[in-house]
Amino acid sequence: MKTIFERPGINLGVNNEFSYDDINLAGQISSELLRKDAIGLPQLSELEVMRHYKELSDRNFCIEKGFYPLGSCTMKYNPKVNELLASLEGFCNLHPMQSDEDSQGALELMYNLQEKLKYITGMDAVTLQPSAGAHGELTGMMIVKKYFEAKGETHRNKVIIPDSAHGTNPASAKMCGFDIVEVKSNERGQVDIEALNSLLDDSVAAIMMTNPNTLGIFEENVLKISKLMHENGSLLYYDGANFNAIMGWTNPALMGFDIVHINLHKTFSTPHGGGGPGAGPVGVKEYLQDFLPSPVIRKSESGFYRDYDIKHSIGKVRAFYGNFGILVRAYAYILMMGNELKLASADAVLNANYIKEKLKGVYELPYDEPCMHEFVLSGEKQHHQGVSTIGIAKRLMDSNCHPPTVYFPLIVHEAIMIEPTESESKQVLDEFIKIMLKIAREIEENPEEVLKSPKTTPVKKIDETLAARQPNLTFK
Ligand SMILES: *Cc1c(COP(=O)(O)O)cnc(C)c1O
Repeated sequence: MKTIFERPGINLGVNNEFSYDDINLAGQISSELLRKDAIGLPQLSELEVMRHYKELSDRNFCIEKGFYPLGSCTMKYNPKVNELLASLEGFCNLHPMQSDEDSQGALELMYNLQEKLKYITGMDAVTLQPSAGAHGELTGMMIVKKYFEAKGETHRNKVIIPDSAHGTNPASAKMCGFDIVEVKSNERGQVDIEALNSLLDDSVAAIMMTNPNTLGIFEENVLKISKLMHENGSLLYYDGANFNAIMGWTNPALMGFDIVHINLHKTFSTPHGGGGPGAGPVGVKEYLQDFLPSPVIRKSESGFYRDYDIKHSIGKVRAFYGNFGILVRAYAYILMMGNELKLASADAVLNANYIKEKLKGVYELPYDEPCMHEFVLSGEKQHHQGVSTIGIAKRLMDSNCHPPTVYFPLIVHEAIMIEPTESESKQVLDEFIKIMLKIAREIEENPEEVLKSPKTTPVKKIDETLAARQPNLTFK
């Protein structure tokens, strides 16, 4: 195949010497620098390439295409204007090693975000460094460890975690060298106070809790729990992944927690999923602020600066100061929403309860309680027809709906965890309810048909055993 470098002079039938070479790029480069052979790139036109990638992107399901009821994941909708703000040249082209003096705008934004997060969580100091929820947990557990070391209470080597917890909680505590003790939930899906009490002694460093918990249920005894833990000399860690359920109505400090992380990518804008960048800022009460990772962003009379001089700091937990672009999005979102953050929580809770009430009875609802921003059904009722939760999830895909989170939390068999968030209209919720009810009917009437799904996706139903044994990883 000919390349532009080999193109002969164009014959106009008048003068064979005529060539356009001197008016294109090749004509401006001296001949000894020019490549002699083709480099073997596929010869495709721009249009062909564009069509290829557009077709690939059309195969993706995304929030712009349909409903995304994934539980435990919140923030599926992200205001596009936040993307624009995060891509402003002044933010994008700033190097993290530039001086404080050069970086006043970025430092001011980070300082202000710290202040907002302090206000929202009720904590006294905040670090923006951790780059995910799990990373925030690790940071928090490192602080717990160092705090007890400084107090000379190194015998506190256990962390209590409810059986409904997200799997990252035990993993983070274990990575800091703590032993994990599980506390059971009661029949109402909440921490069993008696069981918790029986676990307490002076070897307990902390409890890690999510409130509302991963069943979407608010822990009504949280004040009793924080009292018990503090009387035992232990700390309380708040996993703030479900923060969008409580914004402006209560906060972890009022509930008695000492440390909290917030998933900015779940509660305060930023597209997430696919392991994309996130941010898990950690807030602490005053008596723990000297343990935060350095630097913390502070304000002085002459401007904003990075403070590396933190007395008992656990050190750095990531390069530089955090995922800055995510911080910009969160700050923009908080400023834009203001007191309406409260409304967002109220709507998220209302939407979840609406779907729950419409689906319960047809699908089993193991914990029949008012829920917060999400709730957990079980596919047990459908099981006798040979269709399990995964079958229901795949059937949903044929109705242009992303499946909910399935098989989590672990304490519910055949779990189907649904979180609509505040951003969906009643019309969308009603459509989802209709589809879920239709699937339940189909399972009773014609389960074999349901098991053939998905039928409308680019990749149809696959033989999962074969796919695991003989993975075909090439693109056709
Ligand atoms: C998502 C989530 C986490 C982990 O957060 P990442 O940002 O994914 O690391 C922890 N706990 C709960 C309850 C979660 O939903």
